[in-house]
Amino acid sequence: MPALAFHMPTFCDVALAVPLDMAFTYAIPPGMEPVVGGRVLVPFRQQRFSGIVVALHDRPPRVKTKKVIEALDLAPVLDEQLLKLGKWIADYYLAPVGEVFRAMLPLAAEFKHAVAYRITDAGRMALHLAGTSGSPARSKRAPEEQLVEFRVLDYLAERESAREESLRRATHVPVSTSKLKALLAGMVRKKWIVREDVSAARDAARVVKVAVLHVPVESRLAASPAAETGQAPSLHISSSPAKPAKKLNENQRTLIETLAASGGRLPVEALRGLDVSRTTLATLVRRGLIELVDAPQDFALSRLKPRQSPFEFEFSAAQKDALAKIGEAVGARKFGGLLLHGITGSGKTAVYLACMREVLEQGRSSILLVPEIGLTPAVAADLHQVFGDEVAILHSGLSDAERADQWHRIRRGEARVVAGTRSAVFAPVGDLALIIVDEEQDSSYKQEETPRYNARDVAVMRAKMAGAAVVLGSATPSLESYYNAKKSKYALVELPDRVEMRPLPEVEIVDMRQEFQETGKEQVISRKLAEEIRERLEKKEQVMVLLNRRGYSPVVLCRACGKTLQCKNCAVSMTHHKRERKMECHYCGHVAHIPDKCAHCGSEYVYFVGTGSEKLEELLHGMFPQARIGRLDRDTVRGREDFEQALNALNEGALDMLVGTQMIAKGHDIHGVTLVGVVGADMALGLPDFRAAERTFQLLTQVAGRAGRGQSPGKVVLQTYFQDHYAVQFAARHDFAGFYEKELQFRAWMHYPPYSAIANVLIRSEKLDDALTWSGALGHWFEKTRHEGIRVLGPAAAPITRLKRDYRYHFILKSPSREKMNALLRAMLAEAAARKIPRTQVIVDVDAVWLM
Ligand code: ADP
Ligand code: ZN
Ligand code: ZN
Repeated sequence: MPALAFHMPTFCDVALAVPLDMAFTYAIPPGMEPVVGGRVLVPFRQQRFSGIVVALHDRPPRVKTKKVIEALDLAPVLDEQLLKLGKWIADYYLAPVGEVFRAMLPLAAEFKHAVAYRITDAGRMALHLAGTSGSPARSKRAPEEQLVEFRVLDYLAERESAREESLRRATHVPVSTSKLKALLAGMVRKKWIVREDVSAARDAARVVKVAVLHVPVESRLAASPAAETGQAPSLHISSSPAKPAKKLNENQRTLIETLAASGGRLPVEALRGLDVSRTTLATLVRRGLIELVDAPQDFALSRLKPRQSPFEFEFSAAQKDALAKIGEAVGARKFGGLLLHGITGSGKTAVYLACMREVLEQGRSSILLVPEIGLTPAVAADLHQVFGDEVAILHSGLSDAERADQWHRIRRGEARVVAGTRSAVFAPVGDLALIIVDEEQDSSYKQEETPRYNARDVAVMRAKMAGAAVVLGSATPSLESYYNAKKSKYALVELPDRVEMRPLPEVEIVDMRQEFQETGKEQVISRKLAEEIRERLEKKEQVMVLLNRRGYSPVVLCRACGKTLQCKNCAVSMTHHKRERKMECHYCGHVAHIPDKCAHCGSEYVYFVGTGSEKLEELLHGMFPQARIGRLDRDTVRGREDFEQALNALNEGALDMLVGTQMIAKGHDIHGVTLVGVVGADMALGLPDFRAAERTFQLLTQVAGRAGRGQSPGKVVLQTYFQDHYAVQFAARHDFAGFYEKELQFRAWMHYPPYSAIANVLIRSEKLDDALTWSGALGHWFEKTRHEGIRVLGPAAAPITRLKRDYRYHFILKSPSREKMNALLRAMLAEAAARKIPRTQVIVDVDAVWLM
């Protein structure tokens, strides 16, 4: 017997998505060939789990092992680099590696139907023989089994591959599922067919009808001379030699013009808005002018009127310089980090697109990360315009199946440009040359569940491992990144001016304490802001008003006993939502009736206190009844369509005013807005959070950046109760450097990042007793453990003492040495395990963004 060409190891170590910091060893049954980085299905505590193979070996473990049920992948789904990255994340954030891998792979949708079958040459031969001899193989088996095999081969011979369900239908013979499975397995053994891992997403992806102009617009349409004489232009089909030119009626013309103006492609759904009947579209389709095609929803998304091409202008000197420096870093083919600090409206997006295009031209890949709500329809439209089908867009609106579909497109190398939110940092691109993190300071890059990674920092590490360039872009960089740039860990590249030298808006501060003294009552909208709004409306200019709090009133107060209405699951006030007639907890989503009397004392004197965006909208309606006002917050934006609609409306001038939470502050480039009113954005300054000043400065700068992006200069009216606070003062003066210097000083004194690494350790339990005992025990342990160079604060009640039914206590660790801090955290987790504190109740948040 010839020696086997290769030996399949007998065991594999599998990382499972369970809250345990270890891999599990399973035996590999003969004939099965799992791969490192591929998925396997394994039994785990009476259940089946899929996990990632992290090692293959022949070392029998001490305990009896169970067998792998199925190898799901023939090739790794996590290549060597991504495996390494996952292990780094597990180590850095103290997260179970299996949970990290799960977060890296958007393939949850595939578990049911991950497999398809394909015919082999041997299979074709068997089919051929069967065709001549009457059965695919001479054997003593039942004729219906042979018939099934024959039909399976016959069916597969005509297509690339098929799933079990299709094969079942194709065989026309009633066989049980298990019987069919057994037969297919037998055919695989005979090497007639092969099993393949395929995306189950392909069929499941939401597909929409898209209308496509069939030939270039110019050749189809010609305006008649009447156009110049002021009469309605009439369009003719002029260049189709087969058919005589036929006149288009007005509806048909509208439709075609709209399509043409949108680059020749629009979802049919979007055309409905034009007020033309379905038959108009049908007629044009019949006449061959328009074709209807199926497209994944992602590619049909752009309902935003196409903008000027992102490259139709001359790049400024600063933009060219930035582009050159990034290009150089990419060309070096080794790690290089750049911090692109460009003020609002300085044209960062154009720089991103231009370098991604250069990378693509070299046949290499790039990833653009954007914050949760930063992937505006405008950016998506730009990406499609520049990269067409080469771009994969991963956003939160995708279903699991769609996400998996995009993942496979990227993996197959069909999309070498990837744009998306947080988890897009794990996109399986080959030959990664560049990662761009837009608005790198944004807190949505931090995942607030295990694994608690920050995509910005993971991007930097991935770039290091890949020898790629990483660009962190922002108008308001985080203290951490700015500090790194100052210490030359990153190259600092600046875009100090707005494009075409447009001025930054003038900011006028309105002291709301003084407003109260002068008017004798608590104002929501100051006299100054009201006056400025009126002026803009008269000039037909547009206004944005920010109030960073949703709902109608944030507090319900009893005048008799002084108590407020709290959520039953959390130690926070319930918010009144007027239109939806309910009270809602913004932390856990709990909903309750609007109280007509106090829950504590029964008094009827309950008052609704404070203002949220819903009430602000109502107030503005009252003050400016003629104005068309829209609102953008989590209550009005249920899906991305609402978001797009509101922005479209503003962009097209269908709205005069847009009110909203921080959703309105980010990224939008709407040229008609000349006034930004900040009604409330400084609430954070009253919170016990060391990042409050930084966040406030960033939010104020961002929202101010929405004003005056077009031809007319902008203005900001900033209402505040903290008029002397340096975050407010520096933001009003657009003084970035000033703010950073001051804030860095404060961080140094207080041993906060970037001078110390921090971690938040949260102990939680539904039982107050447990939470107290556990945090007490760990507190003692921290005290008696020697840990030089690490400050441990706590245990203390967390600022939000109860959340989603859990009582919460926490520790804050600070240390200039990350290694030491992580070692202590690891020892603490071991201690917690020894004390039988469930791993899920001890949350370790390294580089915590929120300490609440
Ligand atoms: P940022 O992201 O820095 O706030 P954007 O990239 O959104 O700025 O650019 C602001 C606007 O300026 C966009 O409408 C963009 O198309 C336009 N723009 C970018 N670069 C130039 C340029 N060199 N000349 C003219 N307009 C530009
Ligand atoms: Zn009361
Ligand atoms: Zn709650």
